Amino acid sequence: MRYVSTRGAAPALGFEDVLLAGPAADGGLYVPESFPRLAPGEIRALAALPYAEMAARVMQPFVAGAIAEKDFARIAADAYAAFRHPAVAPLVQLDANLWLLELFHGPTLAFKDYALQLVGRLFDLVLKKRGRRVTVVGATSGDTGSAAIEACRDRESIDIFILHPRGRVSEVQRRQMTTVTSRNVHNIAIQGTFDDCQDLVKAMFADEGFRDRMSLAAVNSINWARVMAQTAYYFAAAAAIGAPERPVSFAVPTGNFGNAYAGYVARRMGLRIARLVVATNRNDILARFLETGELAAAEVTATLSPAMDIQVSSNFERLLFEISGRDGNAVGRLMKRFRAEGAISVGHAGLEAAREVFSGFRLDDDGTLASIAETHKRCGLLADPHSAIGIAAAKAAREPAVPMIAVATADAAKFPEAVEKATGVRPALPPHLADLMERPERCAELPNDLKSVQDFVAARTERKGAA
Ligand SMILES: *Cc1c(COP(=O)(O)O)cnc(C)c1O
Repeated sequence: MRYVSTRGAAPALGFEDVLLAGPAADGGLYVPESFPRLAPGEIRALAALPYAEMAARVMQPFVAGAIAEKDFARIAADAYAAFRHPAVAPLVQLDANLWLLELFHGPTLAFKDYALQLVGRLFDLVLKKRGRRVTVVGATSGDTGSAAIEACRDRESIDIFILHPRGRVSEVQRRQMTTVTSRNVHNIAIQGTFDDCQDLVKAMFADEGFRDRMSLAAVNSINWARVMAQTAYYFAAAAAIGAPERPVSFAVPTGNFGNAYAGYVARRMGLRIARLVVATNRNDILARFLETGELAAAEVTATLSPAMDIQVSSNFERLLFEISGRDGNAVGRLMKRFRAEGAISVGHAGLEAAREVFSGFRLDDDGTLASIAETHKRCGLLADPHSAIGIAAAKAAREPAVPMIAVATADAAKFPEAVEKATGVRPALPPHLADLMERPERCAELPNDLKSVQDFVAARTERKGAA
């Protein structure tokens, strides 16, 4: 499988290079040259398989030519062995023809584990093969940092440095990062905001000398391998309730559009998905786009579902590429205009192409609390605020003849305040994290200053004879 850039001006690459590359040289994102298709019989056969085997089969065409089938199957088995539910991605029925796909049974209790547990191991495999090491750097406002740390801890070819804004992430989120004591894991609390952290990471990548000396790498949500890994649970869920015979729909809590776009990819691979509902909070740029065809950024407002407090959804460019008829030049022009003016329009044909698959939904914080309360009252389930928006979207968009699956993206215990406010019940952390509040923490504190952070990264990386 070869991969091309959404802006059409960067060289095509194979899977290994796309895995390690980050954005393409022309500023675009890599996508497969063509989408592989699974025949109805192959989809039917998935229902009988354990999750890891099913996932390896779905993803195999994307790594074909780069990673041997046997190695890939072993990596997938290893990645999903640590999940706390034997089904890995279980479905729970909420109502007639309404289901919840629970994607929070990984080590850090959010759906990002489903991709990152695989990606960390793929990095290790490819780097060992090439005799290389990398230094992963990233900024987090919450869930991504812990999922990336859990994915990279103790991997021989990786050092990982995660920046978070000091005092501005929840205590559970901070402790999920700072209590990991593996030698290759480094947490940095920055005296600044999340935007400061992100700017520091961008500046480290922009400093070419530093980037090359440290072999900097990223595992952020534009990484193609993360999208690829996320297609698997769409197949798992649809096969479990009757694919390929029955079409299904999904409602997906959305921020950077990685998860919802993975559903789109599954559909292009032959899965009969009738509708993908893009569920947003008050930061509703994507819901507005699906109403008007105009992508117009607004101020980000803080909500009860912080992982969706995003205005510029980086993976949206991948959909733009498809609805523009895979015209990289057109995408390049649109993205340039969007960066300059904060708004673009895709025209009638583009909007119709997007609407054929997607519809939008938005819910404010009061609605989110009401959805948590109702889910608890009617089904006895504690939904986290992100999942509760997905459930409300699923109910609103349901059609009688098509099973609807709401995607649950985090465990309620990650957002105990909102859940307790809505239900009166404080969700408990699962057993493997029960002593989280007592574990010792390890974290450096640094000023919002590029040189200080670079010196820290260089000192910790070089001590192990890397780069
Ligand atoms: C990251 C995240 C999302 C948003 O997913 P995208 O792929 O960025 O759209 C939703 N819910 C939770 C809990 C998350 O951690």
